[in-house]
Amino acid sequence: MFDIRLSQEQREFRDLARKFAQEDIKPTAMPLDRENDWEKRVPWGLLKQGSQLGFRTFVLQEENGGSGMSDHITSCLVAEELAAGELGTAYYFMLTARRARDWFELRMTPEQRAYFLPKFVSDDLYFTTVAIHEPETDFGFDFFTETPPTIRLRTQATPQDDGSWLINGTKAYQTVGYLAKLIVLRAQIPDGSVQSFLVEGDSPGLSRRPMSKFGRRVGDNAAEMVFDNVRIPAGRILPPSPKGRTDMGTHPTIAALTLGLGRAAYEETLKYVQERISGGKPIIQHQAVGLAIADMAMNLQAARRLIWTAAWVKDHPEAIEDGSVEALPYEHMAIAFTGTAVQRITEQALELFGGAGVIQGMPIEKYVRDAHVQKHVSFPYPSRFKITEALVGYKRKVAPFHGGD
Ligand SMILES: Cc1cc2nc3c(=O)[nH]c(=O)nc-3n(C[C@H](O)[C@H](O)[C@H](O)COP(=O)(O)OP(=O)(O)OC[C@H]3O[C@@H](n4cnc5c(N)ncnc54)[C@H](O)[C@@H]3O)c2cc1C
Repeated sequence: MFDIRLSQEQREFRDLARKFAQEDIKPTAMPLDRENDWEKRVPWGLLKQGSQLGFRTFVLQEENGGSGMSDHITSCLVAEELAAGELGTAYYFMLTARRARDWFELRMTPEQRAYFLPKFVSDDLYFTTVAIHEPETDFGFDFFTETPPTIRLRTQATPQDDGSWLINGTKAYQTVGYLAKLIVLRAQIPDGSVQSFLVEGDSPGLSRRPMSKFGRRVGDNAAEMVFDNVRIPAGRILPPSPKGRTDMGTHPTIAALTLGLGRAAYEETLKYVQERISGGKPIIQHQAVGLAIADMAMNLQAARRLIWTAAWVKDHPEAIEDGSVEALPYEHMAIAFTGTAVQRITEQALELFGGAGVIQGMPIEKYVRDAHVQKHVSFPYPSRFKITEALVGYKRKVAPFHGGD
């Protein structure tokens, strides 16, 4: 049965994440955000420390070096806490952690697992990315039009006589794309299909450039990943998701990262409106301010419930199959709703801070910038297409790179 109470194990791990986020991550947020030099914005010490606390590996089973907490609700709890400390730092851990279960435990062949898992578990700075997006390729997200067959990824993998592959092409914007030590690369192969290649970050022929964003500046993105005759050994195609498995993917976790950002903005504002005096009283006592605070709290809670529902349904697909839970695209609703809600929350925060809101070095202007990036990556169009598809029972044909990993 759907139960919103958290287990003791979940609460303990959430509290560990909260302590790390509030005591160690948060104090670094503003100084790192303001660094001009990209290299200096990477929180190396925190990445090491967080890995040692288990935030990179906890989703794996204990026999694989994790903590056996593979359920999606625990991932959402940790994501919210870490992001309430600093969004970009939280991204490093959470996408890598969530994908670790999908890739290492559910999809890799035994040979792939034997090669990659020990490297992943033993290296505190081993992070991963998925490379789909390309600078010039038309991905054609249009609900009413079938993706034309002429649309292809430009990144090509060409088979070689010895079973290896040669990769050529360019990817852009990947999260943790500059530092990732393992890249799942979506590339076109000669039979017209798209495959996921396991590419090591230090492969000869692969060059990368970092990207500076106006928000989520602490988190790494690649401006460009160029594959120039990168040779991939035989046996490095990652098998697709096992048939029938609905418990994979990162949507609820990404929504929970955005939620953590919104919560940080809300908490900062709640404190401020009780301290700031105007008209002889704390501004919370002005009615319009109180109503705005209530609105922020309500939207955070609505987002959290939608995210937890999406996470729970991912862990309990049987509840959809037996009809005890209505079949809706909860994960798409959660990510799209949270992106929009948190952008509004940070703008309300900005307004309630008055002049102090726009001052550089105050946290609110950072939250506003970060929220713009999150709104952008909350898949506003693709998610809504999926929702509409589910509502009207429409299923369009899409090119094989849609959906990704
Ligand atoms: C912070 C960040 C992280 C990212 N992480 C990754 C990653 O990890 N891996 C990866 O492969 N990629 C990643 N990306 C790339 C991301 O997937 C693309 O940027 C995204 O899909 C949008 O594509 P585009 O930039 O080509 O925009 P376009 O598709 O060119 O869109 C341009 C404009 O047209 C509008 N538009 C397009 N189609 C429609 C339509 N059908 N209806 C209405 N309006 C439309 C868009 O809303 C937008 O306003 C990331 C991007 C960012 C910014």
